[in-house]
Amino acid sequence: MSEIPNNTDIRTPAPAERSLNFVEQIVEEDLATGKNGGRVHTRFPPEPNGYLHIGHAKSICLNFGLADKYGGKTNLRFDDTNPVTEDTEYVESIKADVRWLGFEWENEFYASDYFDQLYEFAEKLIQKGLAYVDDSTAEEIAAQKGTPTEPGKESPYRSRSVEENLDLFRRMKAGEFPDGAKVLRAKIDMAAPNMHFRDPIMYRIKHAHHHRTGDKWCIYPMYDFAHGQSDSIEQITHSLCTLEFEVHRPLYDWYIQQLEIFPSRQIEFARLNLTYTVMSKRKLLQLVNEGHVRGWDDPRMPTIAGIRRRGFTPASIRDFADRIGIAKRDNLIDVGLLEFCIREELNKTTARVMAVVDEKPLRVVLTNYPVGQVDEVSIENNPEDPSSGHRSVPFSREVYIERDDFMENPPKKYFRLSPGGMVRLKGAYIIKCEEVVKDNAGEIIELRCTYIPESRSGSDTSGINVKGTIHWVSVAHAVEAEVRLYDRLLTVEDPSAEEGDFKSFINPNSLEIVRAYVEPTLKAAKTGDRFQFIRKGYFCIDPDSTDEKLVFNRTVTLKDTWAKEQKKA
Ligand code: ATP
Ligand code: MG
Repeated sequence: MSEIPNNTDIRTPAPAERSLNFVEQIVEEDLATGKNGGRVHTRFPPEPNGYLHIGHAKSICLNFGLADKYGGKTNLRFDDTNPVTEDTEYVESIKADVRWLGFEWENEFYASDYFDQLYEFAEKLIQKGLAYVDDSTAEEIAAQKGTPTEPGKESPYRSRSVEENLDLFRRMKAGEFPDGAKVLRAKIDMAAPNMHFRDPIMYRIKHAHHHRTGDKWCIYPMYDFAHGQSDSIEQITHSLCTLEFEVHRPLYDWYIQQLEIFPSRQIEFARLNLTYTVMSKRKLLQLVNEGHVRGWDDPRMPTIAGIRRRGFTPASIRDFADRIGIAKRDNLIDVGLLEFCIREELNKTTARVMAVVDEKPLRVVLTNYPVGQVDEVSIENNPEDPSSGHRSVPFSREVYIERDDFMENPPKKYFRLSPGGMVRLKGAYIIKCEEVVKDNAGEIIELRCTYIPESRSGSDTSGINVKGTIHWVSVAHAVEAEVRLYDRLLTVEDPSAEEGDFKSFINPNSLEIVRAYVEPTLKAAKTGDRFQFIRKGYFCIDPDSTDEKLVFNRTVTLKDTWAKEQKKA
């Protein structure tokens, strides 16, 4: 198909030929100096408070990819220190998504498994005079913080004795105080230029049920007092996280030093942001809860579940992650690159089938074709893959074509069908439009055409040259289907650069449901099967599909705007 661009010139080099990225450089330096006994151990640490999105996919590919490359291991660790937002439904979906991407973890851990150990760590810091129980309210603590240019003020509870702090902390654990009555804070430096050093909170009281530990705990550690310690407990060598944690790194290192535990190393990389969508679980949850989409796996969502349902493959997502590489500066990636990756793969792997995607297709009657005769014409499954073979598709006297493939008053260089004009029906014959039949309202309801018997594809002796080839489906054999056409979720490229709520940019036309008439070979298709609808795009069978009614999702169109823009640039 001519619509499929040849994109070989914009392919990024294969990983083996590429220079090392900055994380690989760090790992190789560590290996060269014999650090960690030559071990590479990473972890992927999702908080189970939502479904994973394509940004997480990048992090997964990075963590598992790094371990694969250096003969190391990767843990899956649920960062479940916040009892309120977490749920086992999310735990299960996260595991399914990581596996679907093609990765298997070494260990499945939960930060909540470390609650006892973390509690011990906290007591150790109290013993060392490096932590205290503070009765200040949240507002008072915020006011004590100061600003980046002004030092903070010390809390009036800062000089409590070790004994008093130990006693109060134990009573916090025992449930003697209500939520918010007290916190445990690290005693560092209220004048530190790094705000995270101004006596950060380590533990807060929350009388909440936890999805794993139940009601055992009513105090929960803060992220900063759980993450690095969990890394250390698991002897993670390289702890990869996104850039916003760069300012937390000194604190990450401080806790590890003071606790004298395994020195995991935190390395930050840029978050993935994609055009025309949002990438935060909180916002994605809003879209789901407020009914802007049909669920976490709605094919318009940037979630892994949504992208999977849309028809993307694990390989295309890994390829995407590989091509964007990793950066030290936040950036916005064109969603066209993701589409390019899936198009590249589907071009090589899918059968070309005929689907007339049109609510009101045009009936073409071939007046010189015998009534009742059915011809089996042979269609090449995939010209990109000679081993894919051919299949037969029934052809008969009446076929449907798309209304767009006919024009009564065509402009110059219109190569599809028009009155008196000729076109080839893909894999079959050249036809000539003899008569346009209209109803009383003037709407075209039928084209009466003749076919050229000598022009059959593969054995054409007609000597006639036509410029256009169009797809068709035999009316008597057509299978009706529902086709879901997806467009961008948002109308703006970068919602974070716009004023106002991201929901005001929701594209009202992000889903269009249309009828289609597809060739009968598709009747046997199963959920997840992928096809190229000739001249239209790549489609897959949606799980809503039944034996009675096929439902297709458009994964991506054939046109590759991203590749064109790259060539221009
Ligand atoms: P969100 O803001 O979407 O909820 P998060 O960072 O809170 O994301 P976590 O579950 O805490 O989500 O993240 C698990 C891992 O995935 C972390 O290491 C995090 O840095 C990484 N990650 C999350 N979002 C992205 C992204 N957009 N690009 C790359 N990595 C990401
Ligand atoms: Mg988070």
